[in-house]
Amino acid sequence: MTVRILVLGSGAREHAIIVALLRENAGHELVSAPGNAGIAASGVETVGLDASNGKLVAQYAADNGIELVVIGPEAPLVAGVADVLRAKGIAVFGPGRAAAALEGSKAFAKRIMDAANVPTGRAHRGSTVAEVESALDALGAPHVVKADGLAAGKGVLVTDDRAAALAHAEFYLQQGDVLVEEFLDGQEVSLFFLADGHDVVPLSPAQDYKRAGDGDTGPNTGGMGAYSPVPLAGDDVMAMVMDRAVDPTLAALRNQGIDYRGVLYAGLMLTPDGPKIIEYNVRFGDPETQVVAPRLSSDLADLLARAASGSLGDAAPSFVDDAAVTVVCAAEGYPRSPRLGDPIEGLELAARVEGVTVFCAGVARAADAPEGSPLLTAGGRVLDITAMGPDLATARSRAYQAVACVSWPGLHVRSDIAAAAAHEQSHPREGERP
Ligand code: AMP
Repeated sequence: MTVRILVLGSGAREHAIIVALLRENAGHELVSAPGNAGIAASGVETVGLDASNGKLVAQYAADNGIELVVIGPEAPLVAGVADVLRAKGIAVFGPGRAAAALEGSKAFAKRIMDAANVPTGRAHRGSTVAEVESALDALGAPHVVKADGLAAGKGVLVTDDRAAALAHAEFYLQQGDVLVEEFLDGQEVSLFFLADGHDVVPLSPAQDYKRAGDGDTGPNTGGMGAYSPVPLAGDDVMAMVMDRAVDPTLAALRNQGIDYRGVLYAGLMLTPDGPKIIEYNVRFGDPETQVVAPRLSSDLADLLARAASGSLGDAAPSFVDDAAVTVVCAAEGYPRSPRLGDPIEGLELAARVEGVTVFCAGVARAADAPEGSPLLTAGGRVLDITAMGPDLATARSRAYQAVACVSWPGLHVRSDIAAAAAHEQSHPREGERP
């Protein structure tokens, strides 16, 4: 059945969602708003809508026969775009404003987690410098300081330096409360669950790389790469998180009259004391979607439509065994001050490498550009190069082979995406061999 779908957002995550929606059933009609020049170059219609303006989005959907709206980024969710659409009877994949506070307010998320008895780190909320200081001393180093509200990925600082922690807190106290959290040590994994208000089904896990530099050094970024599946996050971890975190969290929201329809993203730390939730997000991960969506063998449009309409029932999303690795190609200066406007060379060559799909993020086309001229860099994270392969090592080597095909001045990548996991997969330790 053909469905007319509007996908909101403009990054590589939305590009990956669009490719997956088109793959399962080429009959679907897609519109991307605002999308980007790479999405447009792949033949998908893009419209210059402000995705966070609920009224405009609802008007566009009503005027253009849109049957399902898929909301990619957090900003429109926190702004309540899903509520406006639902009030007009338009099916939408994504939670309403009240539920989006799980991501939009870290203090709200902690309150819900406490009410639901979810395993998570201890946290203190502070609204003054004195409160923050006593929280830093109570919890000790390493210090974790977070802005309460959305801060475009810049609100979190993890540091051993008490003065730096305090300075970060002082900066964000000008905008609202600050959270000081217990440091959680271990491997981090991203888990995704589709929810329809009653039922919940898990997707395949991914691991992403938040720090800018190899070996997890340098500043936090939106994410420099990812891989899936994650050998560390087996069925036991999924079952435990479903049982101890996701089900009770959705029940706690229901107790507040909140019906969650969309994807719940659990950022998990596998600590020596067991898995603990670092945070919830209310949308698909970016760049994790660029490795999870290509591995999905079920019909994504059907799953999202069923989540939107409350009819997930016993849906069981399935994934191919093949691995996927994605490497983010970033602009010079990212994440601090990315240099923009450089021509991107080699895109077609990269896309011809076996198993590779190039997802576009910060790319643009100059208004007067002649036909066939290269796209230009227009954001910090420019491209996301994903490769599939029979194992992580093959997917990883294909991804980096494709990365070597693209260029612009100052392009940089992390060179260690999926390296450790690929090594472990091909050299399992004694006792872990299948
Ligand atoms: P968040 O925006 O809460 O996901 O934080 C961004 C990143 O900071 C996370 O993905 C972690 O890598 C790190 N982080 C956040 N909270 C903690 C914590 N309590 N302990 C250790 N690392 C953390």
